[in-house]
Amino acid sequence: MRSHYCGQITSENIDQEVTLYGWVDRRRDHGGVIFLDLRDREGIVQVVFDPDTDQFFERADSVRNEYVLQVKGRVRARTGATINPNMKTGEIEILGKELEILNRSVTPPFQLDEHIAVGEDVRLKYRYIDLRRPEMLGKLRLRSRITSSIRRFLDNNDFLDIETPILTKATPEGARDYLVPSRTHAGKFFALPQSPQLFKQLLMVSGMDRYYQIAKCFRDEDLRADRQPEFTQIDIEASFLDDKQIMAITEGMIRELFKEVLDVELGEFPRMPYSEAMARFGSDKPDLRIPMELVDVNDLMQQVDFKVFNGPANDPEGRVAALKVTGGAQISRKQIDEYTKLVAIYGAKGLAWIKINDTAAGIEGLQSPILKFMPDEIVTQMMSRLAVADGDIVFFGADKESVVNEALGSLRVKIGEDLDLIQKEWAPLWVVDFPMFEKNGEGHLTSLHHPFTAPACSAEELEKNPLGALSIAYDMVLNGTELGGGSTRIHQSDMQKAVFRVLGISDDEAQEKFGFLLDALKYGAPPHGGLAFGLDRLVMLMTGAKSIRDVIAFPKTQSAACIMTEAPGDADSKQLRELNIRLREKPKSS
Ligand code: ASP
Repeated sequence: MRSHYCGQITSENIDQEVTLYGWVDRRRDHGGVIFLDLRDREGIVQVVFDPDTDQFFERADSVRNEYVLQVKGRVRARTGATINPNMKTGEIEILGKELEILNRSVTPPFQLDEHIAVGEDVRLKYRYIDLRRPEMLGKLRLRSRITSSIRRFLDNNDFLDIETPILTKATPEGARDYLVPSRTHAGKFFALPQSPQLFKQLLMVSGMDRYYQIAKCFRDEDLRADRQPEFTQIDIEASFLDDKQIMAITEGMIRELFKEVLDVELGEFPRMPYSEAMARFGSDKPDLRIPMELVDVNDLMQQVDFKVFNGPANDPEGRVAALKVTGGAQISRKQIDEYTKLVAIYGAKGLAWIKINDTAAGIEGLQSPILKFMPDEIVTQMMSRLAVADGDIVFFGADKESVVNEALGSLRVKIGEDLDLIQKEWAPLWVVDFPMFEKNGEGHLTSLHHPFTAPACSAEELEKNPLGALSIAYDMVLNGTELGGGSTRIHQSDMQKAVFRVLGISDDEAQEKFGFLLDALKYGAPPHGGLAFGLDRLVMLMTGAKSIRDVIAFPKTQSAACIMTEAPGDADSKQLRELNIRLREKPKSS
């Protein structure tokens, strides 16, 4: 057995005999003395073999990078210039006495400190080597500390850790399902859970009172940079607690986590209604570290004789808003063109701007292609509403409200990053009072959270004016990222049926898809609610990782594949026959 991890030996161990296991990080021959840097999970230590160790010296000489060794030796102090202050174990070294080669390694596809040069595909193909890098190991280690802190908190608060099925029926969270064909029920399919939502609610009906699970969820979505088809949630549900109480417990959990793992005091989280977040930041997950806000100028633009502005200003579904960037007049034309491309992604047809060169000169001190379309007094009023100063720039969005919000909301974050305007390290908040429904592209109503979220009004009011109804839902947001979200749930079947009706799900369809839930709600379902945190994103924020893939041991690529195992793969014809599946011929590529 090992006596110590390589990275944990200090000067306190001087003169002790140690047994170490690890990988050769580097081997150097210094004029008849062999130096081996031996690496394990905890770090690296230098081992020295002198020629008088005979066969062991020769063995030491024969090793190569990534060989697996057992080394026995004595800890001794380094002296003078040989002390390495950049190394955790730099004050000592091991005088090697015995060496066993436990396994050899062919030349690795990349050096552990050269990963940046090799590209992510190679790193993912040889993920087991990539994970040997201290940086990757550090992230997974922090992930483990995060889950253990969370488990401890929830255990101490009487939550029970209960597993729910992976082979199940559709659990809608707004994505496509991953389906698994059943061999024993020909032609039928299981769905992998998009979340444990329905099961955790059923656990409340069964009286478990407080539940949690660190649960795998599966969503077949078109992947964005920070998404994975298979991801992990910290899933929580409790009975007889209202939204405020659930927010208080889970906020406490995140505060304790940050204190314990990062020694950061997050303080109390402010709460902001959804409508305010959209109006001020154009986003339901505002990054409060950036000191810029959208300002409405609808009323002013109703009067101008410029269609681009007065059209949306007079449209009840439109919005005209301004975003002032203090000191932004230095932003170049080229950069403005880049920002115009950014807002175009969200449907904006252009990006109007005014630079403020000299306030003392009045209108003359402004520079902009759009000034000629606006009466001076409107411009003057707008400038005073925005409290502009010399050197500022103001950007405008004028379109459907949703386009303006997304366009200026994203521009705000991009400029915040580009101009280094981020003011503090952590800015958490709760966003509350979400609408129950929104209209999708086809004009159908969809749930903003999921269909099991309780409205803040009666079933009659809900059916009368669904788009006006608010839900008892809450999202926790940190630095512009949605960390988690949840709600008080519907616990009465009549209300659940009303919501299904609003969503255009007929009673028959509801019975077929969610009959088990509607039934359960009839047998004494307690009032309950909960939420789920995205563990991968939480770890990403806490480790400062740039990519979600860097905090998952074996992630999928952006096209939802695993390069290492080459999953998804083909199924052989026998397997398919057993599953009653015949593949359509692959479309011929034209
Ligand atoms: N099931 C929800 C989700 O996955 C979270 C919740 O409402 O508890 O987003």
